[in-house]
Amino acid sequence: MESISATPSNGRTVVEVRGQVIAPGFIDLHFHGQDAENYAFKAHDGVTTALELEIGVSPLASWYAERTGKALIHFGASSGHVLAPMKVMHDPGDFLPSGDAAHRVATDEEQLSILNVVRQGLDEGAVGSGFGIAYVPTAGRAEILRLFQLAGDRHVPVFVHYAGIGGLGWSDYTASRGHRRRRGRTPGLQGDVIGYWLARIADRRRPNPLPEN
Ligand SMILES: [Zn+2]
Repeated sequence: MESISATPSNGRTVVEVRGQVIAPGFIDLHFHGQDAENYAFKAHDGVTTALELEIGVSPLASWYAERTGKALIHFGASSGHVLAPMKVMHDPGDFLPSGDAAHRVATDEEQLSILNVVRQGLDEGAVGSGFGIAYVPTAGRAEILRLFQLAGDRHVPVFVHYAGIGGLGWSDYTASRGHRRRRGRTPGLQGDVIGYWLARIADRRRPNPLPEN
């Protein structure tokens, strides 16, 4: 789009858009194929910004450097929690964990390293923290809360693929609140669950320092 004017302007192509919405470009918040081929397809769909927010990217600095000045569209990524335990626990998985990060509870020392990996990603320009809690079902409540605290301290948003039944969230959450889990109820972004996590974010307004490396 070159310009917007109340008076007629001359262009080579005239498009009738009465009754339509015109946007300078769409932002895709849930996009995993961060390469030149996929960016070209995105551009054809009118997407001008593709963000990897759920799984995120780690390490971030080299990822940004590889794309800067070369990508067809805008790009960005979160510092992903799923990737941090994969790195720290030497998980052989590619995009998602398949080994220890998916099946073993991280030791206290590993959890501190996970926190530091996510923190480093934020230092390197992540647009927020990404959580694929369903993909790291052994990640405990304390580990997730610490990462929420980190995001709160940095005033960055969190992008959350919430846990399913059997993972962190729903069963723990309902157990902690004394709710009985109802068969067939879909876990996910139920209103009261959103309220629970918003309350955790609000908690961060109170001082409660995180362990430093
Ligand atoms: Zn996804």
